[in-house]
Amino acid sequence: MRRDIFLEEHEAFRDLVREFLAREVTPFHAQWEKDKVVPRSVWLKAGQAGLLGIDVDEKYGGGGNQDYRYYAIMNEETGRAGATGLGFFVHNDMVGQYLLRLCTPEQKERWFPGYCSGDLITAVAMTEPGAGSDLQGIRTSAVRDPLTGDYVLNGQKTFITNGQLADLVIVVARTDPSAGHRGISLLAVERGTPGFERGRNLDKIGMHAQDTSELFFTDVRVPSSNLLGEEGGGFVALMQNLPRERVTIGVYALAVAEKAYEDTLAYAKSRQAFGQPIGSFQHSKFVLAEMATELAVARAFTDRAIVAHTREELTTQEASMVKWWNTELCNRVTDRCLQLHGGYGYMREYAVGRAWADSRIQSIFGGTTEIQKEIIARGLGL
Ligand SMILES: Cc1cc2nc3c(=O)[nH]c(=O)nc-3n(C[C@H](O)[C@H](O)[C@H](O)COP(=O)(O)OP(=O)(O)OC[C@H]3O[C@@H](n4cnc5c(N)ncnc54)[C@H](O)[C@@H]3O)c2cc1C
Repeated sequence: MRRDIFLEEHEAFRDLVREFLAREVTPFHAQWEKDKVVPRSVWLKAGQAGLLGIDVDEKYGGGGNQDYRYYAIMNEETGRAGATGLGFFVHNDMVGQYLLRLCTPEQKERWFPGYCSGDLITAVAMTEPGAGSDLQGIRTSAVRDPLTGDYVLNGQKTFITNGQLADLVIVVARTDPSAGHRGISLLAVERGTPGFERGRNLDKIGMHAQDTSELFFTDVRVPSSNLLGEEGGGFVALMQNLPRERVTIGVYALAVAEKAYEDTLAYAKSRQAFGQPIGSFQHSKFVLAEMATELAVARAFTDRAIVAHTREELTTQEASMVKWWNTELCNRVTDRCLQLHGGYGYMREYAVGRAWADSRIQSIFGGTTEIQKEIIARGLGL
């Protein structure tokens, strides 16, 4: 079915993103996978191409455009290109949303120009070794020094996307241990602040070009001018952005699944076994027919969600539905596509093998499938 949620200007933007990925990313991605990180230069090029801070005010170098569909297109194309090294999603769809909502005018002046140009790479650090799904279990603490007003930050984070490259990390910390979720705040910690150290660039089973790190904070003095929003308002701010993060992961996952399916359909028509294309075996036909149907159904639902989010109408529960459904569908589709590729599917040289390994994380980060179902059930009054 023809997609009808995009206008001419969106399609022109899609062409721009595709062209950027083909020129600046795809030819180098295999090397970046070996390096386990992308170069800062690709961030700067993305900034120049207008791919960072699309929704930030033009006076800071942003695009001044609040239409979510542009970011949806960017994530679709990044997913289709298998450009998993680019942590733009965290920068644009996560950190950027906190900055837009919470920054004071002074903080905007300080951070937005670099954020839009790609000079200031960002990350968000929620997860700790002992607290992932259960965010309220975090132990990283920020205690206010009554003399200077600074926060003294202590703790450890793990699995942080852009962790090696980030110049500005939004750290989720407990500022009042007795206040439950109202005792959680967001602090922006800048590169080079004494006591802030990066640990290992973690060795993952996929997404090899994406830097994912441990971060350590030992008596880090964070000036009160780096508090984002109100003290104690961190948990609510995180919850407010969850629909955005989750619909975005769902949008990305569906694009990955569609691309794997398209590649596999072409492969099934050309690869021969027993004197005929492997796609002509009844089992292969049924698997491909099932995937075509499941993807078409997901596409209809996801496009409605994109429109609803563009109108700021998408609920937390609906965003969770998009995330769990599409990421689990992506797991199933990439697995079946790999199987149809036989041994070639297991080679990283083949896009389908990379998609299988790279996308497995999507049903885990941004809240696991089980947590999405909890949220949906809560919306049902359960
Ligand atoms: C590559 C990668 C990138 C990441 N990027 C970031 C990042 O940039 N910033 C960041 O802060 N974090 C990041 N994360 C962390 C990610 O969000 C967490 O791994 C995820 O939220 C799950 O937390 P956990 O790993 O502690 O698992 P756990 O919370 O320990 O969960 C383990 C299992 O228990 C299940 N479970 C837990 N609670 C429940 C429940 N109530 N009901 C049913 N089942 C439950 C889970 O669904 C899961 O299956 C990243 C992780 C990876 C691997």
